[in-house]
Amino acid sequence: MASLSLRHIYKVYAGGVRAVSDFNLDIDDKEFIVFVGPSGCGKSTTLRMIAGLEDISAGELYIDDRLVNDVEPKDRDIAMVFQNYALYPHMTVYDNMAFGLRLRHVPAKIIDEKVQEAASILGIQHLLNRRPKALSGGQRQRVALGRAIVREPKVFLLDEPLSNLDAKLRVQMRTEITKLHHRLATTFIYVTHDQTEAMTMGTRIVVMKDGIVQQVDTPTTLYDNPANLFVACFLGSPQMNIFKARLIEENGNVYALVGETNKIMIPKSRAMRIIDKSIIGSEVLFGIRPEDVRYEQALIDAHPESVVEADVDVIENLGNETILYLNVEGKEDYTIARVNARYSFNQGEKIRMYFATEHAHLFDVTTELTLMGVPDYNKIPAQAVAMENTINVMFGDVQIKLPEDMLGRITDKSIINNKVTLAIAPTAFATEGGENDICIEGVADFFDNYPRFKAVYVSVPGVENRIIVSRPLDYEFNGGEKVKLYVNPADIQLFNDDGERIVADIPVSGNTTTGTVTNVNGTYTYRFASASGSKNKMTFDNTVTETDENGVKQTKPKFDNLMTVETESPMYILPRGVAIDKDTMSQTPKMVLSGVIKNLDEYHKDAIVTVEVSGFNGDMTLIIRNFSGYNAGDKIKFAVNPFSVKAEQYESFAEAVIKGQEEGEIRYKELVAAREKEKELEAAAKKEQAATKTASKKAADTVAPNSESTDAAEPTAPAAKKPAAKKAPAAKKTSTVKRPTAKKK
Ligand code: ADP
Repeated sequence: MASLSLRHIYKVYAGGVRAVSDFNLDIDDKEFIVFVGPSGCGKSTTLRMIAGLEDISAGELYIDDRLVNDVEPKDRDIAMVFQNYALYPHMTVYDNMAFGLRLRHVPAKIIDEKVQEAASILGIQHLLNRRPKALSGGQRQRVALGRAIVREPKVFLLDEPLSNLDAKLRVQMRTEITKLHHRLATTFIYVTHDQTEAMTMGTRIVVMKDGIVQQVDTPTTLYDNPANLFVACFLGSPQMNIFKARLIEENGNVYALVGETNKIMIPKSRAMRIIDKSIIGSEVLFGIRPEDVRYEQALIDAHPESVVEADVDVIENLGNETILYLNVEGKEDYTIARVNARYSFNQGEKIRMYFATEHAHLFDVTTELTLMGVPDYNKIPAQAVAMENTINVMFGDVQIKLPEDMLGRITDKSIINNKVTLAIAPTAFATEGGENDICIEGVADFFDNYPRFKAVYVSVPGVENRIIVSRPLDYEFNGGEKVKLYVNPADIQLFNDDGERIVADIPVSGNTTTGTVTNVNGTYTYRFASASGSKNKMTFDNTVTETDENGVKQTKPKFDNLMTVETESPMYILPRGVAIDKDTMSQTPKMVLSGVIKNLDEYHKDAIVTVEVSGFNGDMTLIIRNFSGYNAGDKIKFAVNPFSVKAEQYESFAEAVIKGQEEGEIRYKELVAAREKEKELEAAAKKEQAATKTASKKAADTVAPNSESTDAAEPTAPAAKKPAAKKAPAAKKTSTVKRPTAKKK
């Protein structure tokens, strides 16, 4: 019985292979956790760190609230079962199982009881006197399990224990291990590359790729709500069909356009879960699982707007089901359908298939993150206004004053008196306000139940997308209820217009020093010196030789406007003005500096890295894209972009805010005025709408007295779609959306 907590765990092997990055997971007592992912993704390394067989490079590992980073494996109260059984060949099964206990000087009588009990649990009593050589693979694996059971560990770690067994035995042992978990009622952590094992055994699954956790959740949630394209395609066989599509909105419905001809409707119940409505109009990846490509005529008739034409190319009848490989216009590879084996098909036949789009998935083309479901952050377009020595972030009626200590961590001054995206994690909303908390008021519209929380969708005036709030499962949801969401300003994150996260976890200093920049025949020399007297020099050849039309070679500057400073002056390097990619570094080898990483703050692919570089006063702060493979303490080389060297005193964000206050005051007044205007217009629109509503209700009552005006047409009830489609489109935006199809679980 044990709970575990893995916090910011990293593993870097000697030689620099980063096997695991920022692994975070809390494991409850008695859970069956599966680590799954392709070979080399860091599963075994993580397991071995838990076992104590591998050092933890960074981060903390707790077992039952005890920090065990430096605790010997034998003192961690865990037992590990390996793929290759690791039995002693010269010992009997009994002795193999008893060995560990004898080492611990457990009395022989107790050992015997434990071995007999474990043997009976595993059904191997009759094998106790045999040697491993005389056992089948399955029997050996049982002995290996038995050896772990007798130790009564707090945690069982299993590393691909079934991969040496044949397919049939694997299935059998799978259920046996699941039964064993129930019977022993202890925490299990199981590593496999096999998605079927993961799906069938885990209470929760950790999907990993390239040393990074992609998603952690129950099998059903991972399957139904994959957080990204990788998880979507890794789980499920045959795998999810992915189409390049464009999303459009017509008459209040969202469609995915695939190729020239296919227009597939996404039902409202699904479309209203799109995290960011601004994606409508853009290219997306549209995913549908093979079992959601349906052939039943009744479904095709009921949903003509989600039907696609296909050519049958390959038919695989598996007896219980048929796998169809279809050619669909607009998709290069096959569209795979999994249909009832009763239907018969001919190669080359043209058929029509219904895409059950209430189960469709949408992914961002670039980030490959899901566009539906619960995001890391709710992203709210806002304005940043410099006021009262800080930044006020404003949207709708809400005004958030950033805590002053946050200013030192903001990396982008261009947001001052400009647009900014406010990002708040769904878990950051409290139901009661603390002293400095801000309050956002909205209306709870609907919810989805996830295994560990309820995702409540809240409309907030002035915000186009609903805000998704994480609440405990027993949270009492009342559709249409007014709710107050409290946020601690310290928990908010900001993104700039380029989608870059701009609040670092660590303070951002300017990379300040003193120096000169001279230009001799196009070669720029940057000389820096720190207060302590250490020096650094970089050079940049700003010339290119081009041959003109007449074949005459001409030397020209590569860039105009490079800065020169003849006398020693304060100067700094922009944090974002560096690159660590090989190409840039080899193109400008003499603009490369090196230093030692003192601290890093990673976020997806961005990192804010503090580096100690000789020749600089204080540490340099670098903001680096696609940063991976480094730890604190590592040496790092980076190329400085000549444009990012500025011959001025570094101005901190807080200083820039103070300078921007005059303009901020004007901006603030404009925003408040615009807000008032907006409210007036809204009130007028509401009034008008109410009037048309009463009029149209009167008219409707005379025609169809029972027709319900629901905004979210339930996809499986096609009859409900008609009245909704006829509704005046103006009613859409402001009408309170009733709870549509909150998932039942
Ligand atoms: P998985 O269990 O998911 O197959 P591993 O945890 O075994 O993956 O390996 C993760 C990465 O670490 C791989 O790139 C692997 O090559 C590397 N690796 C594993 N063990 C070592 C080691 N002892 N020394 C250096 N690199 C290693």
